[in-house]
Amino acid sequence: MEKGEYILALDEGTTSCRAILFDRQGRAAASAQREFASVFPQAGWVEQDADEIWRTQLAVMREAASSVSAAQISAIGITNQRETLVVWDAETGEPLHQAIVWQCRRTSAMCESLKAEGWEAEVRARTGLVLDPYFTGTKLKWLLDEVPGLREKAEAGRVLVGTIDTWLIWKLTEGAVHATDVSNASRTMLFNIHTLAWDEEILARLGIPAVMLPEVKPSSGIFGYTRLLDGDGEGTATEMTPPAGIPIAGVAGDQQAALFGQGCFESGMAKNTYGTGCFLLTNTGESPIASEKGLLTTIAWQMDGKTTYALEGSVFTAGSVIQWLRDGLGLIAHASESEALAASVADTLGVYVVPAFTGLGTPYWNADARGMITGLTRGATSAHLVRAALESIAYQTADVLGTMAAESGLRLKELRVDGGAVANSLLMQFQADLLGVSVIRPVMLETTALGAAFLAGLGVGFWSGTDELRALWELDRTFVPERDEAWRAGVYGGWQKAVGYQL
Ligand code: ADP
Repeated sequence: MEKGEYILALDEGTTSCRAILFDRQGRAAASAQREFASVFPQAGWVEQDADEIWRTQLAVMREAASSVSAAQISAIGITNQRETLVVWDAETGEPLHQAIVWQCRRTSAMCESLKAEGWEAEVRARTGLVLDPYFTGTKLKWLLDEVPGLREKAEAGRVLVGTIDTWLIWKLTEGAVHATDVSNASRTMLFNIHTLAWDEEILARLGIPAVMLPEVKPSSGIFGYTRLLDGDGEGTATEMTPPAGIPIAGVAGDQQAALFGQGCFESGMAKNTYGTGCFLLTNTGESPIASEKGLLTTIAWQMDGKTTYALEGSVFTAGSVIQWLRDGLGLIAHASESEALAASVADTLGVYVVPAFTGLGTPYWNADARGMITGLTRGATSAHLVRAALESIAYQTADVLGTMAAESGLRLKELRVDGGAVANSLLMQFQADLLGVSVIRPVMLETTALGAAFLAGLGVGFWSGTDELRALWELDRTFVPERDEAWRAGVYGGWQKAVGYQL
């Protein structure tokens, strides 16, 4: 067993970077968090600055680890927003474009033409994904097509590409390691989830030089060692905490990490994460289950030579509808205010918000749908609107769970939940009422970071195995359904009608 006392998890989300120091009990001993910017250069486009992500992640990592020595940290685990694309110069490490964020719809037309060529079934069979701008592959083709000279430079081996995990590993190892894990690779639309290798046919069709892609590794095990000795990432020497030599020993995309952090180690266990988007994942064991109705077949993790698969339903806009109430409409000053405002009215007065800001995911997969508010009457107030926005998160989850039940035959008895928006108890109670299923909120809500810590800890023998991890899971609160079927059918029928206007 490793001697250190902590595992340091780096959780690079869509809106913020976090770093959490976990002890052996899976409790957070220290943490730090900082938001960073997204920019929206055109309708439906979303970009971030890869250097800003790195600097923000480095700053919170140092802050979280400031009270311990490097020798006390057994390993680093990394989890990240998935599908987001970074390309950088192999020599200088200079990003060659803004990072293109998973939410960005710039490749809608490209996806339509690939579908017209018959690629949809191929993509699904090989990658488990739907042919949608959400995934990394078409974003990379877009860059290679649009940035002058990029394809030639890439073909010459002078450009590296990766999702955010790969970018952070490369930066932390000072360019020594260019790697990703299977869970992140499985979201690129370039990775064959059956052969566990980059898919040559898809690469050829998209004109992507294989030389720019990272090496794909298991989710648990040593990727490399931090080399960062000093400096703030911009060449200025500062006192460095932690210093070099810590193994990066666990990597997984945020949703897969959350599934692991929720202790969903067995086939049939499911969790829903309420962050910027909502992601419901069910562990399906060692078999990839194909979907016909807009669920994704994805790799959950690979460890000890075994690959575990998951079925996933994706909602693009969930917690971010609350950010829009805050930043776009100015109806609230903080996300947490949404609960009291929504609770000040008994219902939405028939108002529905359909937050299709960047299209709709499972089961609709409509890249062109856009947001809408329906059912407005003279009595509707900002409180009704806020409540309707919150409820839209639960309705979209009901859409996903209904699809999963219809397709896999799986009827959940309970749903484990996590992510920033589950702090909202009104939302969680409404979710339980709407699904007719108990909603289970654990004490540890940072399950994404915890999952990364678990993978890293197992990778260096800090924890002995999943039995030890299972015992660390603690219940905070169970939300029991309180409404009847007639109520459910009424409100859900209203939602389906509202969504229908965008389809
Ligand atoms: P991510 O990892 O995708 O950045 P988080 O898990 O940190 O997301 O969750 C942040 C999201 O949760 C934000 O979109 C925010 O609007 C939402 N959120 C945070 N607190 C609340 C709350 N009390 N009620 C509703 N939504 C909330």
